[in-house]
Amino acid sequence: MALTLFNTLGRTLQPFEPLMAGKVGFYGCGPTVYNYAHIGNLRAYVVHDILVRTLRRAGFDVTHVMNITDVGHLSGDNDEGDDKMLKSAEERGKTVWEVADLYTRRFFQDTQQLNIQKPTVICKATEHIPDMIALIKRIEDRGFTYHAGGNLYFDITQFAAYGELGRLRLEDQKAGARIGVDQNKRNPHDFVLWFTKSKFENQAMLWDSPWGRGYPGWHIECSAMSIKYLGETFDIHAGGIDHVPIHHTNEIAQSEAATGIHPWVRYWVHNEFLVLDKGKMSKSSGSFLTLQALVDSGYDPLDYRYFLLGAHYRSQVQFSYEALTGARNARKSLLDRIRERVQALGSPSSLSGLRNSPLPPSFREGKAGAYLAAFHTALDDDLATPRGLAELWGILRDPVVSAEDALRGVCAMDEVLGLNLAETVETGAPEESETLRDSIEALIAERAAAKKVRDFDRADRIRQTLKEQGIILEDRPNETVWRRG
Ligand code: AMP
Ligand code: ZN
Repeated sequence: MALTLFNTLGRTLQPFEPLMAGKVGFYGCGPTVYNYAHIGNLRAYVVHDILVRTLRRAGFDVTHVMNITDVGHLSGDNDEGDDKMLKSAEERGKTVWEVADLYTRRFFQDTQQLNIQKPTVICKATEHIPDMIALIKRIEDRGFTYHAGGNLYFDITQFAAYGELGRLRLEDQKAGARIGVDQNKRNPHDFVLWFTKSKFENQAMLWDSPWGRGYPGWHIECSAMSIKYLGETFDIHAGGIDHVPIHHTNEIAQSEAATGIHPWVRYWVHNEFLVLDKGKMSKSSGSFLTLQALVDSGYDPLDYRYFLLGAHYRSQVQFSYEALTGARNARKSLLDRIRERVQALGSPSSLSGLRNSPLPPSFREGKAGAYLAAFHTALDDDLATPRGLAELWGILRDPVVSAEDALRGVCAMDEVLGLNLAETVETGAPEESETLRDSIEALIAERAAAKKVRDFDRADRIRQTLKEQGIILEDRPNETVWRRG
């Protein structure tokens, strides 16, 4: 089966056909580095990773480009609010450059721990200002801009296809939408290409440009850098679902205005959000969970990866420690099963041999081959990771499949899933008891917090989750203790 992707442009499942045979140009919006990435942001990058791995598995030579937003992103995507980098630097008593450097490094530590492959090109906005200026000039020369209040704006009325991606009904939104909107804008959906009159007096990042000394609007960086590294039209662009109505809509408008090529991007892939039971996770409000917080509670980053793969990328996922504990238990059982199969082979070192050798014809023709084919069909069907995981479990559980073939299949599937299964088994399990103890303590603390806000259902669910793991809680006057039941 050919790879099929749900294209937001058109809202249908479409067979994937690249512009150039055998090659794929892929751009995924990267992080805004004014704070740690939260686990919702990281969901987006796990999805990009699964997409890239699926494409590579299918034989495509993928160029994956990721930007680092280190300038110009205001707290409102629509040019409103504070400058995210500047605000963060002021709060932390650092320069904007120091903040960008710190959180870029932390971001790549997180992605490495989640076994996310490094993009082919990582490009910082601040290192591509001349490319942005050149692109804005093309947009200006073709008549899509106006000056107001010292800034250069994109005039959406000049771009007939504006809002196609998000199916925006612009007329509906005009009335009343001007409240709080930059009064220089002729239309509330117009957006800034270049700021010279910063509302932030202490703006630290400034560059000379034909429109005066200033800095770029947020959206232009993604158009300029993707065009620079992937060409004026390319295959796939991805990001979170929140980017559909503004950021990606504006990227399309300015790119197509500059080049005259339609469509600029052929497939748009958007992941749904990870939400907390309290609601939306927001980096700017500070109410969010980091990967490190999960690690501090005793989870392995790959437990979180496993948790994410259990849901389809276009479904909203609610995060809870209970669900993460479930994912951890499942991953642990998976590793135990692999260990059993390795033991059945007699020699643990044979796993790496199997991993690095091609699949023999006997594998492909037998039942193991059918599991692997079903796995690939699932992933090729708009990245259906939950079905992929079911095939992984299937091949491991099936008594008809030999230990050797089961392990070959696991290794082949894990090239796409990226759970590092063979490596984890080869290097030995992490110190289990300490990890387990930490996570029990974290759940006890979460239960105490739930009781404090009189959320007794949640407290009971946590007690039940632990009971299912053989852990019994006893409430004492000032503390809760646990024991194995
Ligand atoms: P940012 O660093 O805020 O620019 O966001 C990085 C990526 O994370 C973007 O693709 C967002 O659309 C995506 N994103 C933001 N919040 C969430 C969330 N809660 N769940 C999934 N993706 C998210
Ligand atoms: Zn972007």
